[in-house]
Amino acid sequence: MTPPPWDDLRLKVHILLFDIRMTTPVRLPPFKGSALRGAWKGVLTRAYCPATPEERQRPGHADACPACYLTERENDPEARKPYALRPPLTHETDFPPGATLRWGMVLFGPAWLLLSYIFSTVHDMGHVAGIGHQPGKKGARGRFELTTAYAEHPFRPHHREIIYTKERPLVITPQNGAVTLEDVRRESQRRLAAMSEDEPIVRLRFRTPTRIVHQKKLVKAGKFAFAPFFQRLLERLYMLAHDFGDPPLEDARGRLREAMTAVRPLAERVHVEEDRTWWWDYKGYSSRLKRAQPMGGLMGEVVLRAPKAVWEALMVPLVWGEVAHVGKNAVKGQGWYALSGAWGTGSGKARSEKRGR
Ligand SMILES: [Zn+2]
Repeated sequence: MTPPPWDDLRLKVHILLFDIRMTTPVRLPPFKGSALRGAWKGVLTRAYCPATPEERQRPGHADACPACYLTERENDPEARKPYALRPPLTHETDFPPGATLRWGMVLFGPAWLLLSYIFSTVHDMGHVAGIGHQPGKKGARGRFELTTAYAEHPFRPHHREIIYTKERPLVITPQNGAVTLEDVRRESQRRLAAMSEDEPIVRLRFRTPTRIVHQKKLVKAGKFAFAPFFQRLLERLYMLAHDFGDPPLEDARGRLREAMTAVRPLAERVHVEEDRTWWWDYKGYSSRLKRAQPMGGLMGEVVLRAPKAVWEALMVPLVWGEVAHVGKNAVKGQGWYALSGAWGTGSGKARSEKRGR
C-alpha cells in the first residue's frame, strides 16, 4: 500500500510563549508542567466559570462556557484537550524575586479564539492564585508577573513575534498566524531535501518526559522502538484532527486504521541505532483521580536510521508531533520532542535553545 499523503491532518495550531518574572521567592518542582497546569486550571474554573459544580457536569455546558471548553474536557480521560503545555526546561527549583522563566502553550483549533481568557488567566495565575510555594512562608504560593508574550511559528523565518509587553498591556494579533498542514509539508520537504540518498540518520530527543504505552505497558528507558512510538503519534494526531481539525476529520478511527495499515511496514523499517534514553521519575497530583500518581517518562535521545523513502513517507506526522506532542499528559507538558538531522536542529526554537535560552 502506498503511504497516505496526510491530507487528514488538517490542524491549525497556535503557539504562545510567556516570559514571567517572579515577584516573590518561588519554589517549583524540577518538572514544572503539573504546577503550571494546576494553577491554570484552578484560575479558569474559579474565576471564569459562572456555573455551580452540578451545572458544570451537564452535557453541553463546556460548549457554551469558554473556561470549561479549556478545562472541563479534562474530566473525560478519552477526550483530547484543546491545548498542550510547554513547561520551562530548566530543572532548577528555587527562584528569587526578579528571576525569569519562559513557558508556553500550544493551542489547537478554536482555542485560539479564547486568547483574551488565556491572557487574563495567566495574569491571575501570577497575581491571584500563585504557583508552587514560597519558601519559608507556610501555605503561601509564589507570585509572578507576565512581562512579555510571543506568538511563535517554528517554521517561518520571523518565528517569534511579540504580542504583549507589560509596558504596553494590549494583546496584538500576530502576523504569523497558525501552523498549518501546508507549513508542516514545506518544513518536511526542507528536511528531506537536506538528507543524503542512502540511509539517513534522524535524532529524536525528548525535551520533556514522554510516556508511550505499548501492549498495555509503558515503554521504559533503553527499550525504545520506533513503530509503537509512531503509532501513538498517529493516534494523537488523528484524534486532534477529529476534535479540532479545520474542518474536523470525520471517521477519524477508520481513517487512522487505514493510515496505520499503510505505514506500519515502513515504520518497522526504522532501526534504532542508539538508545540513550533515561527515565525521569517523579510523581504528580491528579485532581481527576484525587491522588498522587507516577508521572515519569522517557528523556534523552534515540538515533534512528532508515532508507530515505521511509523518511519521505513518515516525515509529515513526525514534524506535526514536534508541535503537538506525543503520548500521555500533553496538558501537563509531557511528550514534547524535537528531531534533528542533516537539515540541522529543526525549528528556530531548538536553535535559540542552544544559545542558552
Ligand atoms: Zn463552565
